[in-house]
Amino acid sequence: MKPKEITIVSGKGGTGKTSLTAALVSFAPQRTVLCEADVDAPDLEILLHPVKVSEHPFMGMRTAAVDAERCIGCGKCESVCRFEAIDMSSGKAVVDKTFCEGCSACTLVCPQECILMEDTRQGTWFFGQTDFGPMVHARLNPGGENSGMLVQLVRKEARLTAKKTGAGIILTDGPPGIACPAISAVTGADIALIVTEPTMSGRHDMLRIAELCERFGAKAAVILNKADLSNEGAVKIEEACRENGLPLLASIPFLLDVVHAVAQARIPSEELKSYIGPIWEKLMKL
Ligand code: SF4
Ligand code: SF4
Repeated sequence: MKPKEITIVSGKGGTGKTSLTAALVSFAPQRTVLCEADVDAPDLEILLHPVKVSEHPFMGMRTAAVDAERCIGCGKCESVCRFEAIDMSSGKAVVDKTFCEGCSACTLVCPQECILMEDTRQGTWFFGQTDFGPMVHARLNPGGENSGMLVQLVRKEARLTAKKTGAGIILTDGPPGIACPAISAVTGADIALIVTEPTMSGRHDMLRIAELCERFGAKAAVILNKADLSNEGAVKIEEACRENGLPLLASIPFLLDVVHAVAQARIPSEELKSYIGPIWEKLMKL
């Protein structure tokens, strides 16, 4: 049977998404594969401490590379590059991969035809083993491109792992925001679980990610975290959920013990236990 894919997302950062994901994993009702899709800030591994099984390069966008022996230093490539990625200070063209956007314009003007486009490593992805099951996770290089592609890759590998191990659930820690990696993280998920907080930006960004989920065919549900920090904000989140047909699965108060657990790189399982059981029940019904 095809495993159910649950992606935990948040319209904004700092809502407690990753802590909740880790707590959900520790009480999962079925065999689970974990997937870290927050490849810009992969913090789930800090809480789950996966033991590395294997490590793989993530080759993303093609960037320019100059054959220095054939370069005659004419500077044509530098003048055509809109991204200031080519340095001629040594008398020969040198490409700074951090700035190269892979447009290939330089290859068209080079009289020596000595610029090639080559696959460039943008990050690393891993298979790991945790106390709660196998984990596929990844790290984008600082300044790395193609985060959406990397999210797609880890999700594909998580599905293959679920097939091999017979896991019934894939639990994915998605990225915050509504950009390309968030789209890659929710597309094809059975449920997108939105973690929010009782603030104006929490409500605003929850509705934006909910719209994204609807557009990409993932059923959305909401957890309101740190609910007692603002009664007024909590009421507004509840109203917004009602008005937009978003099931509100739980309202969790701000718990200092959760903060302490996370500060010690520990899953806040015990601290969140009384909330996580009912959330799983509702999730499985959905
Ligand atoms: S591929 Fe485009 S961005 Fe990269 S160095 Fe060449 S012209 Fe500049
Ligand atoms: S256009 Fe070609 S030959 Fe001229 S500087 Fe650039 S790489 Fe060198």
